[in-house]
Amino acid sequence: MSARSALLPCPVFIGGEWRHVEGAGTPVFNPSLGEIIAEAPAGGATLVDEAAQAAAEAFPDWWRTPAADRIQFLFRYKALLESHADEIAKLISTEHGKTLSESRGDLRRGIQIVEFACGIPNLLTGESLENVARGIDCEAIRQPLGVCAGITPFNFPAMVPLWMFPIAIACGNTFVLKPSERVPLTAVRLVELLAETGLPAGVLNLVHGGRDVVDAILTHALIQAISFVGSTAVARHVFSTGTAHGKRVQAAGGAKNFILIMPDAPVSEAVRGLTEAAFGCAGERCMSGSTAIAIGSAGASVLPRLAEAARAIRVGPTFADPDAQMGPVITAGHRDRIERLISEGAADGADVAADGRGLRIDAAPNGFYVGPTILDRVQPGMSVMREEIFGPVLNVLRMDDLDAAIELANKSAYGNGAAIFTSSGAAAREFRHRIRAGMVGINVAVPASMAFFPFSGWGESFFGDLHMQGREAVYFFTQQKVTTSRWFSAEDGDIWQR
Ligand code: NAD
Repeated sequence: MSARSALLPCPVFIGGEWRHVEGAGTPVFNPSLGEIIAEAPAGGATLVDEAAQAAAEAFPDWWRTPAADRIQFLFRYKALLESHADEIAKLISTEHGKTLSESRGDLRRGIQIVEFACGIPNLLTGESLENVARGIDCEAIRQPLGVCAGITPFNFPAMVPLWMFPIAIACGNTFVLKPSERVPLTAVRLVELLAETGLPAGVLNLVHGGRDVVDAILTHALIQAISFVGSTAVARHVFSTGTAHGKRVQAAGGAKNFILIMPDAPVSEAVRGLTEAAFGCAGERCMSGSTAIAIGSAGASVLPRLAEAARAIRVGPTFADPDAQMGPVITAGHRDRIERLISEGAADGADVAADGRGLRIDAAPNGFYVGPTILDRVQPGMSVMREEIFGPVLNVLRMDDLDAAIELANKSAYGNGAAIFTSSGAAAREFRHRIRAGMVGINVAVPASMAFFPFSGWGESFFGDLHMQGREAVYFFTQQKVTTSRWFSAEDGDIWQR
């Protein structure tokens, strides 16, 4: 058996048919072991065109299918996702590296979106007013857009794709999904399970690839709307190119989230929250708490315990070591970048209170590991403050008061999440009012909003008007039509003449 045939299959799904695409693609790693397990095919404009055509062909019938019938597929899908949860979690951990419990959480968050989408008949109801002007009735309804597309990042292989297509198709659209080429296998499984529900061919299509495929999606005439999640540079490109081609675009980008610790914060809870926020999923989360500001005496009370907690985290391959609490980062290149940034922070004068560089795991010597790292006494101008590190690295700044801390946090170009730990209602309310971030935690370190609320990034963490999740997602995937009607005689229906 050749090395290539030992790889896991990574097919595309177009018009209800699975197909293998020949040609060199991108290697998919098991980052826990540093081994290649699959290859994401290169894709290209032709493939995108075929998928868009298939979705366009499927659209008229799917739109005519009553919403109450459309969601029957999603009820079946939810049951299938749940009965395959262990298998999917294992697949996420295999290609992403996060621990099995983190992978189960990744999927659970996605299933909550499917549950939300099952309520679409209620969410799609419109508005009407009779006799809006004499003898005239007015009615606003929501209709699907047509073919929509989703482009997703590596860090939540199940949750982020599930942010998109369940709501889009529940609304009556058809869809083309382009997952990250670094974690395409979970997407293949998610699509397989939806196909198992008997979903009509062409309603959901799957393509693979990188920049070429994204650019083909952004410019394709049949695609009406694009949902994107990834880094800020690409989000900006997707938003500007997609909108320049007349498409509706929502593009979520990167983040640098601040967590403020007040002197009156409950210390154990703050330490636990910061540890989870900074090192959960190896810091590869857009809602990770990557920057803490310890205010006044909080530095002295929290820092020693925080450093101790970071050093105690067991890092390792989730399958070989079931006690591992943190897995690897996604690629060797990403590990090297994170280590370089830690070294830059140290060279700029930060104290390395916990140092995860050069970590070698004996059970998995080729895995892409970086240990939990804390850079203390970081200063605002340092490179570790500017760049989204996207790894298990917590910057800690020490400041004198809440006012200055909010001002500093508000200078960040990003605005995804922010949190405060305090016992003071006044401090919490001040923080909630003034902080420039779309998702705010009060004694909640990772305030990632749940399916029923918008995932509400601000600043360079989001480009567009309508966010993912909740009602905003329903509005994003639909357009309103307002009908104004009048009848000319009592026999035809002008009841106002009677
Ligand atoms: P990425 O931007 O590298 O990739 C995202 C998608 O864009 C992938 O499908 C990829 O194939 C495609 N892509 C990459 N480079 C491209 C280019 N030059 N032109 C066109 N398409 C391109 O992001 P990633 O590394 O996969 O994911 C991590 C990033 O995603 C982090 O910045 C993280 O903060 C962000 N993220 C944001 C949210 C949010 O809700 N704001 C959620 C999850 C992840």
